[in-house]
Amino acid sequence: MGFSTLLSSSQRLVTHTSKRPSPVSPHAHGAPLPQPVPVWAPFYVLPFCPHTVFQDARRYWLYPVNHHPSYPPNQQHALSRSMLTMPSNACPQCQRQPKHPDYRFCSVACGQSAARSAPELKYLYPHHELSVTIATQFMRCWGIGPRPTVLAVYTITWTESSQRSFKQYRDAVEFRGQFKRNGFFPGNEQKRFRSTVRACTLGEGANVSPCYNEACWMCETIRCGFEPHLQRKRSVPSNGPGIRLGAGIYTSHSSSKAAQYAENIHDPESRIKAMLVCRVVIGTPFVTCQEDPTIRSPPLGYDCVYGEPGDHSAFREDEYVVYNADAIRAAYLVLYETAPGA
Ligand SMILES: [Zn+2]
Ligand SMILES: [Zn+2]
Repeated sequence: MGFSTLLSSSQRLVTHTSKRPSPVSPHAHGAPLPQPVPVWAPFYVLPFCPHTVFQDARRYWLYPVNHHPSYPPNQQHALSRSMLTMPSNACPQCQRQPKHPDYRFCSVACGQSAARSAPELKYLYPHHELSVTIATQFMRCWGIGPRPTVLAVYTITWTESSQRSFKQYRDAVEFRGQFKRNGFFPGNEQKRFRSTVRACTLGEGANVSPCYNEACWMCETIRCGFEPHLQRKRSVPSNGPGIRLGAGIYTSHSSSKAAQYAENIHDPESRIKAMLVCRVVIGTPFVTCQEDPTIRSPPLGYDCVYGEPGDHSAFREDEYVVYNADAIRAAYLVLYETAPGA
């Protein structure tokens, strides 16, 4: 198996939305971008291993350590020194070699090794280039409401069969739509946000293993993909909740929209929430401003349904819905803290 075969579906360094035009109109991605995005420097960084002792310090990683009022001065110094030794492009699997520029791991061996122990979360320390890309998109795409603070970013590993089925689906969409030829990623793949119910502390502290609680839909998605979720949606009657665009898998370009569905069952009062960043094969979207709960698959000739926000639209923020579980994979988990009172 060649390197590209193994890793092309494993992880590309996706900066799709910022670097490439989307076939959807520019109004589509309606989230305003007024706020400056935090810039990370080595001095802001905490040790990359989630099992280290600096858990409580993680929440401060968006701030310059020396300026954060509640940070003990002696620890500031210790942290800054250890941070400086960490490269921003280390392979998340071996933590030694630089990652391949186009993929998330350094080599075929590391890709295979990650796939064998998948699915699991791998912590990306804050100045890691993948972490910066994801955290920046999360903050930039926060449209409505008080802005949260990113606490940690993880990459989610996929099994080989999960990689294979995603790639097969993407190749089929690419074959029909020829997106690459027009400067898009194969299958018009893009990153989209999605939140759901979490019944454990996945992502918090040293917890990087998805749980088996059947009420924990976030861990279910990471372990089993989106098929169980899709089955649940298909059993919702057309006048039921959560199916404005039918029985599909809902994602958004807007992190604030996705955050509306982030629910902590284990601790409803907690302001610490988790959100998935998914790789979604958008293909050719069917654009609509109207709800239609009866949809079970995209109209002929389209690959997903896009609820476009606007003055006369039923949608306040954008919604992308795919109706095939192989069109989407959870690729990153963002742990964040909501603003006080949000
Ligand atoms: Zn490696
Ligand atoms: Zn869980």
